[in-house]
Amino acid sequence: MDADSRIAPPELTTELRARLLRWYDVARRNLPWRQDADPYRVWLSEVMLQQTRVDTVKGYYARWLERFPTLESLAAAPLDEVLKAWEGLGYYSRARNLHRAVREVAEHFSGKVPADPNTFRALPGVGRYTAGAVMSIAFGRAEPVVDGNVRRVFARWTDDPAPPDASLWRLAGELVLGERPGDLNQAVMELGATICVPRSPRCMECPVKEFCRAYAAGTQNQRPAPRKTRPLPHEDTSAAVVEHEGRLLLVRRPVDARLGGMWAFPAAVRMRGESVADAAERAVREGLGVGIQAGEPIGDVEHTFSHVRATYRAVRCAWVSGEPRALRYDDWAWASPEELEKYALPVAQRRIAALAGPT
Ligand code: SF4
Repeated sequence: MDADSRIAPPELTTELRARLLRWYDVARRNLPWRQDADPYRVWLSEVMLQQTRVDTVKGYYARWLERFPTLESLAAAPLDEVLKAWEGLGYYSRARNLHRAVREVAEHFSGKVPADPNTFRALPGVGRYTAGAVMSIAFGRAEPVVDGNVRRVFARWTDDPAPPDASLWRLAGELVLGERPGDLNQAVMELGATICVPRSPRCMECPVKEFCRAYAAGTQNQRPAPRKTRPLPHEDTSAAVVEHEGRLLLVRRPVDARLGGMWAFPAAVRMRGESVADAAERAVREGLGVGIQAGEPIGDVEHTFSHVRATYRAVRCAWVSGEPRALRYDDWAWASPEELEKYALPVAQRRIAALAGPT
């Protein structure tokens, strides 16, 4: 490591760690997942917290543990039930991967989360961040973490507008080498979440301001520099709200597709020049082998995914012919308005259902 990329010289790093831990011990938020270091609970909370606000996760975390109190209970549950419990949290691949991973743990590791970083990281959906968090918090191993908060804090400590990932991980690896690695990792993340916040960091309250080069230079508000974001591609999608005898036609998306395993209205991305009605009819014909007649549009729903922005143009349709067959979907169902609640529907699909109103 070149000297300049260090957070501080070794003797000062010891002091930095001590200050972080002293601050964390008194200032940390009392969050439900900090009650104990049970590996399953730590793992679950870390997966839920990715891309999701703490206040949102609290309710989901509590309800989840009522329904799946142990790793074994989650492993034994059908995917439908798991996705239903995750409904509304978004990024459903997190739930699918967690479910697959705990099944592997139940099958190959007698239900015990592996304490070895490499073994744990080989499980579905476990990336470098999740591995570092679970290994350090649940098992006290000196494994680093870098998330958005850590990146911001390090960019300010080093006064670097765009620290490369390799440097961030190296710094995190240096910092975590003290006692209480799990608390050290959490302390930096907590600092980023509560003091070293993106806009107007509260430097006067910061326990480590003496180590912060950006604070010394007065550049903390410019660190890190904003990342350039490219506009997301747009998908213009027809969503067929097919009614028949007071029920609505739902499909379950293939597990390896976007929103895999979730229920939805049959839909197709419109081809160039294709009308909303034609795309809706095609979605149901090609996906289920059913003939429908598209009727009036009932509204648009906008939704932004991580890699695409979608507009769903919902159109009311009438069943004309054919018994549904799962051609491009995993399953299908005719659901009454009261039954809709039991299906795992992503947020945008719930909004389409609301547009459909009572059948
Ligand atoms: S001094 Fe300010 S910018 Fe530096 S780490 Fe503390 S809060 Fe962040």
